Amino acid sequence: MGWYNVKPLFPGVYQVMEGQIVSFFLILGSRQSVLIDTGFGLKDVREIIRPFLTNEPMVVNTHVHPDHSNGNGYFSRTTMGQVEWEEHGLKWNNSTPRILSGDWVPSAFFETVGVKTRLFADFEPRRYDLFIANGLPVPVHLWKEGDEIDLGDTVIEVFHMPAHTRGSLCLLDRRRRILFAGDTLSKGGPWWLHLKCRATMEVCFHTYSRLALLAEKVDHILPAHGEPVLPGDFLTEIARKMESVRRSDIRGETVENYGGRGYYYDFGGYGPVFAKSVAV
Ligand SMILES: [Zn+2]
Repeated sequence: MGWYNVKPLFPGVYQVMEGQIVSFFLILGSRQSVLIDTGFGLKDVREIIRPFLTNEPMVVNTHVHPDHSNGNGYFSRTTMGQVEWEEHGLKWNNSTPRILSGDWVPSAFFETVGVKTRLFADFEPRRYDLFIANGLPVPVHLWKEGDEIDLGDTVIEVFHMPAHTRGSLCLLDRRRRILFAGDTLSKGGPWWLHLKCRATMEVCFHTYSRLALLAEKVDHILPAHGEPVLPGDFLTEIARKMESVRRSDIRGETVENYGGRGYYYDFGGYGPVFAKSVAV
């Protein structure tokens, strides 16, 4: 396995798996193609996906965390949710390069054991830091709940799903019946809903119940982490489990990671980490 692996998952849908850490997705449309997220951007992502392109893709970010948007700089047209840009992205755009503040060194992550061994030989941490220092390009469009992106032979429906970040999007390919979930849900580990950029718990509960309403339109869910393809009825299952968290039927266990302290509600090897415990 190389650092980047491109794999067709469905007709016209490619998964780009990066470092076995994160996935992003190319959807080919007859008139317009979209790239959902751009990964860490360690290499020229446009070049990685070029052999599969039929027209120039527009980037749509699910959210701006570095493993989903650092590759934006390789594309001329990037877009994201309006709330995500205003609340998180603006702090990190061309005029406010975070790396110069000294509190965050992007390449440091790639020096960690386990990640470093999987990197390609010619990875240059300094060049990567300089690339990231350019910041996020200013989006050419900001999406809102209910917007539709016309690809020609299908339509992408935009859903604002605040939880992991307050501006996160989930995107539904209407014809293919595929939901691109970003970091809103996954199977294979905890969902970080305790970060600074999080939505409140009440908003999260509302988000997951809204997701359950989409189940009838979804055959497959493609999250950015964990198991690559989940069945549509996973949406109803997690809404049911979230409801038992809300009613304090499940107890959270304290966890601590670099995102801070939180309470993990184990749904069976996956589930939410909230900043607060529900049980009193
Ligand atoms: Zn994230």
